[in-house]
Amino acid sequence: MSWDFATDPEFQEKLDWARAFVDEQLIPLEPIMGDFTEAQWHAVQEPLKQQVKDQGLWACHLEKELGGQGFGQLALAQMNLVTGRCPFAQEIFGNMAPDSGNSELLAEGGTPAQKERWLWPNLRGEIRSAFAITEPFVASTDPTQITSTAVLDGDEWVINGRKWMITNASRADFIIFMLVTEPDAPVYQRCSMIIVEKGTPGMHIPRDIPTMHHPHSEYGAIGNHAEVLLEDVRVPKDHLIGERGQGFVLSQVRLGPGRIHHATRWLAEAERAFDMLCERTRSRTSFGKGYEKHQLIQQYIAESRIELEMAKLLTLRAAWKMDGAGHRAARADIAMAKVNNAKVLYNVIDRALQVHGSLGYSCDMPLEMMYRSARMAPLVDGANEVHLVTIAREELKRYEAVEGWPSEHIPSRREASLRRFAHLLEAGA
Ligand SMILES: Cc1cc2nc3c(=O)[nH]c(=O)nc-3n(C[C@H](O)[C@H](O)[C@H](O)COP(=O)(O)OP(=O)(O)OC[C@H]3O[C@@H](n4cnc5c(N)ncnc54)[C@H](O)[C@@H]3O)c2cc1C
Repeated sequence: MSWDFATDPEFQEKLDWARAFVDEQLIPLEPIMGDFTEAQWHAVQEPLKQQVKDQGLWACHLEKELGGQGFGQLALAQMNLVTGRCPFAQEIFGNMAPDSGNSELLAEGGTPAQKERWLWPNLRGEIRSAFAITEPFVASTDPTQITSTAVLDGDEWVINGRKWMITNASRADFIIFMLVTEPDAPVYQRCSMIIVEKGTPGMHIPRDIPTMHHPHSEYGAIGNHAEVLLEDVRVPKDHLIGERGQGFVLSQVRLGPGRIHHATRWLAEAERAFDMLCERTRSRTSFGKGYEKHQLIQQYIAESRIELEMAKLLTLRAAWKMDGAGHRAARADIAMAKVNNAKVLYNVIDRALQVHGSLGYSCDMPLEMMYRSARMAPLVDGANEVHLVTIAREELKRYEAVEGWPSEHIPSRREASLRRFAHLLEAGA
């Protein structure tokens, strides 16, 4: 029997180091991040990344041949529970979305030449990437409706269409597009993934879309979400990742891990909100007693802790299953973690904001920004509703329809039991 909730002591030391590093070296940079020029920010990051590498924690989820540590998803999940406290920590630890998912995708489906050109430089942090499925005029929760196309013309793909909400597109050196290449094939074999590099004629990125997270975003900043127009864009044939029509298969390679990466970071962010909730509770009094003595506030704290612990167990088990049985086998577990953690993130931030009163609502605390940002969680990486469908479908696979009364129908069960155990009732009567 093997069932162990403990982290091995060696890795726990790494986690402790990461926690101290995030709290003492990264979080203090947050309030002045906007004051750095890009060159300065780059210079600030390099020695920090080097410290992570020296600790053997750089890109810890990726295999060694990809420049990572080969620790797998469970280790990354535990790391994310720490690094997710700070919005830019993933970059310092070499696992920032969307680059992290794109590197997993290129590692799985890329040719040696594609890896040379895009994967290795991306993993070294020299170039940035984006991933584009969503389109403005179709419900992209259902990507079988994608309309952007790529048509092979000699040795080149000719691409036309429009994507939007593409994270980091205005900044990316290359974008991986999901495009219809096989319009007549069965629906899940119609799309392929094709890489377009920054500056390719015909690709226009007119704007970064202001969002709840960044209502006043500066064009080209990391973390923005852009609109991308594709007008007769030509790229060489070998920019196709994998085989023609493999887009949906490849997207699963990318989206499964991507979802759990986000889901664990959300818990770390929620933990930070929880810290604020508790600190404020210890610091204020009203109606003659400390907040910690008000039962409703105790309830906020207790419910937040219960939700966080339940979410952690669910998420770490999903990551553990991914390592052991693969992403597909963990599909419903990933979906559960994604849906649940989006709610937990929102709930804990909401309670922390409430207990801070007007200070919580003000921009003097990070809570208002966290609150706006948290609203994306049920939308991104597939709307929560769609994940609920996945969970329900997986559950229903274990059940069969019954004719007549349900199998728990008490009169029918009693009748069956009387028949089966008549000898017991008759014995010694
Ligand atoms: C901050 C942010 C970053 C993003 N980054 C990227 C990116 O980098 N690349 C990219 O390609 N996309 C990105 N997206 C887009 C995101 O993946 C899509 O918004 C998402 O897939 C939903 O597609 P949609 O916006 O077209 O909404 P729709 O598909 O129109 O869905 C809207 C709503 O309809 C309901 N709905 C839809 N289908 C069902 C169903 N089957 N059952 C019940 N209800 C349903 C749900 O409530 C859903 O939220 C990003 C979005 C955000 C908010």
